[in-house]
Amino acid sequence: MKRTKIIDILRSQDYGQSVCVKGWVRTRRGSKAVNFIALNDGSTIKNVQIVADVEKFDADLLRLVTTGACLSVEGTLVQSQGVGQSSEIQATKIEVLGTCDAEYPMQKKGQTFEFMRQHAHLRLRTNTFGAVMRIRHNMAIAIHQYFHEHGFVYFHTPIITASDCEGAGEMFQVTTKNLYDLKKDEEGHIDYSDDFFGKMTSLTVSGQLEGELGATALGAIYTFGPTFRAENSNTPRHLAEFWMIEPEVAFNDINDNMDLAEDFIKHCVRWALDNCQDDLEFLNKMIDPTLIERLNFVLENDFVRLKYTDGIKILEEAVKGGHKFEFPVSWGMDLASEHERFLVEQHFKCPVILTDYPKEIKAFYMKQNDDGKTVRAMDVLFPQIGEIIGGSEREENYDKLLQRIKEMDIPMKDMWWYLDTRRFGTCPHSGFGLGFERLILFVTGMQNIRDVIPFPRTPKTAEF
Ligand code: ATP
Ligand code: MN
Repeated sequence: MKRTKIIDILRSQDYGQSVCVKGWVRTRRGSKAVNFIALNDGSTIKNVQIVADVEKFDADLLRLVTTGACLSVEGTLVQSQGVGQSSEIQATKIEVLGTCDAEYPMQKKGQTFEFMRQHAHLRLRTNTFGAVMRIRHNMAIAIHQYFHEHGFVYFHTPIITASDCEGAGEMFQVTTKNLYDLKKDEEGHIDYSDDFFGKMTSLTVSGQLEGELGATALGAIYTFGPTFRAENSNTPRHLAEFWMIEPEVAFNDINDNMDLAEDFIKHCVRWALDNCQDDLEFLNKMIDPTLIERLNFVLENDFVRLKYTDGIKILEEAVKGGHKFEFPVSWGMDLASEHERFLVEQHFKCPVILTDYPKEIKAFYMKQNDDGKTVRAMDVLFPQIGEIIGGSEREENYDKLLQRIKEMDIPMKDMWWYLDTRRFGTCPHSGFGLGFERLILFVTGMQNIRDVIPFPRTPKTAEF
């Protein structure tokens, strides 16, 4: 008999119909006369209730129906007598596809997230991780849909790169060299000429530089791929391997860039509210009671747009007023998460796009303002998250870009191709990077970035 997914069973009202479902047992309870089995197949957060009359089934078989076991069940779809569910299945045939031994780590309710991380291979079978993974999938679809409908080309930038000057973070090296037998020159430098690519290569920290090549030919592109940073930051918002979405658009200035970022994020949030109701309601109940309210708030309100200099003034006022920050506030500093969250959560109570940062704390490619001090950077700061997007208008002037590269002592020997965009028909352009997992954190209300990706990679952790 053909299997029906549980999501479709729960929507169906074909009472009396014979159906087959397959899935994993969440719970079994019951009396001498009847057993109730809650079965889940991952198609929805909801379980279907299987009603099994004890007399119709072999006692040895029912004993194998334990939490975590995998079943195939045939039966009749009936209207449920119980509250909270509409349809259930009166079982006629139960087959145990896979028994589950008593050590199954996911059977107890209320396990800590830390415990579940150690069992990341099985945590996907819990309600919370099922909800998070379905929302993660939906966000990927929403992203592709948004850009496709707005005429962006999905552009694949390389994962292995030879440019070590992107400056976005520490890089993981890629090599086929025998690390036990490294050839070095007189100065102790490793000789890469006999390495696979004939030069030093690493995993990319960003697809932006190649993305600019795409945008200045195709008009508007976006990337959506894995990104790697070997920074040793053990925070709830950093991964060593994460996914990034990087749109890049020719002829957009910083204001267009802000409009795009705001419209794009709102589209993703709206998509979640429209397509992930059951999962959001579950997370709202179990994880964060203000989640849905916060998503609606972001949707309905304009983001505050504020210059860095004005942001610093607000923070300095707060310090004068007695607010204690861990890190001191002064013009020129990079904002710490506590500062970002103060602006967003306490001062404006609204997402903030902070622009025009001091050039010293931002990347070489950002467009320089006429004041000689700031660049057209923009960070989108979100409640609970802090920085969710970082972007800028790019410096399109060849001489200014080169001067900045020299000032910042950036190794450009492998970057001639990047500078060529400014020599051959340069144009104003802008773009940004959205951390996919930070978006998922926001949309799910989860607290730790390790819990919104199936198998997190962080310092000292590469299990599964
Ligand atoms: P942060 O200051 O939070 O470390 P960043 O300024 O180094 O981030 P960018 O280089 O601007 O980050 O990268 C663009 C976006 O990628 C960020 O806004 C963030 O959403 C995401 N991101 C950056 N680093 C990480 C990381 N280690 N793990 C997950 N997401 C990240
Ligand atoms: Mn940034």
